[in-house]
Amino acid sequence: MTTIAASRSVTNVITAIRTFEGEGFPVRRPFPTQTLSLVDPFLLLDHLGPVDLGPGEAKGAPDHPHRGFETVTYVLEGNMEHKDSVGNSGKLNPGDVQWMTAGSGVVHSEMPQAEFKRKGGRLHGFQLWVNLPRKDKMIAPRYQDIPAAKIPIAEAENGAVRVRVVAGESLGKKAVIETRTPISYLHFTMQPGATVRQAVSKSHNAFAYVIDGEGLIGANQRRVGEGQMAILSADADAVSIENAATAKAPLNLLLISGVPLREPVARYGPFVMNTKEEIIRAFDDYQNGRMGQITH
Ligand code: FE
Repeated sequence: MTTIAASRSVTNVITAIRTFEGEGFPVRRPFPTQTLSLVDPFLLLDHLGPVDLGPGEAKGAPDHPHRGFETVTYVLEGNMEHKDSVGNSGKLNPGDVQWMTAGSGVVHSEMPQAEFKRKGGRLHGFQLWVNLPRKDKMIAPRYQDIPAAKIPIAEAENGAVRVRVVAGESLGKKAVIETRTPISYLHFTMQPGATVRQAVSKSHNAFAYVIDGEGLIGANQRRVGEGQMAILSADADAVSIENAATAKAPLNLLLISGVPLREPVARYGPFVMNTKEEIIRAFDDYQNGRMGQITH
């Protein structure tokens, strides 16, 4: 093992808690928890499954509101469909990403597609919540539905390192998604023996989450396993990631970073604002139908 110069280090490794969301689907959640409320500007990361579902067992998240932030859904296996109060609807299949800017508010549903629900299958994916700066919290809702084929894939070491560039930039490839503040969202797949040094601006807060396999991360080469999140120091403008040559399996991980907003966070359930008064107003707007409703 070699120490890689000028890499951020891992300051903390957090094991995701297991909980249930929506109608009762299993998620692993590194944050928010009792000990870590956010990684500014990120408010939540849910790792959905992987879970094998029998016929009729797939569950989703029926009609619910959001205001003041963005939800980023990334499907790895299985599928879902969404509908909202503004009349938008669409389907997400493996590899697809939906970057939804809730802004001033939408009511939406996130459910398994009818055929998947009927037949069952494997469900695996992610949802990340990205906070919006105060000036953008009440902007009009916006969707960026990016099919798998439009997400750039960068490669290094003859394909031993493969990166799906959801947001930001990696190994010379730029994402197609537009973000309100600088965000990077990268999915690395690394074969045993592969190493990579990824640029991460010093202005970003950054973390890595291991989907499966085991990574050696940062200048201190901390071992980080499946379902664990590594928080990175901000003392270098890159991070090193390695899948040990002795590893038995590929390493899959998300490397996510963004410029912190450094603004007050008032959050309650599906609303994330700057003050308690704004949260009360969000509830009032929702309850009085000002975020609309879904016509089924
Ligand atoms: Fe939602």
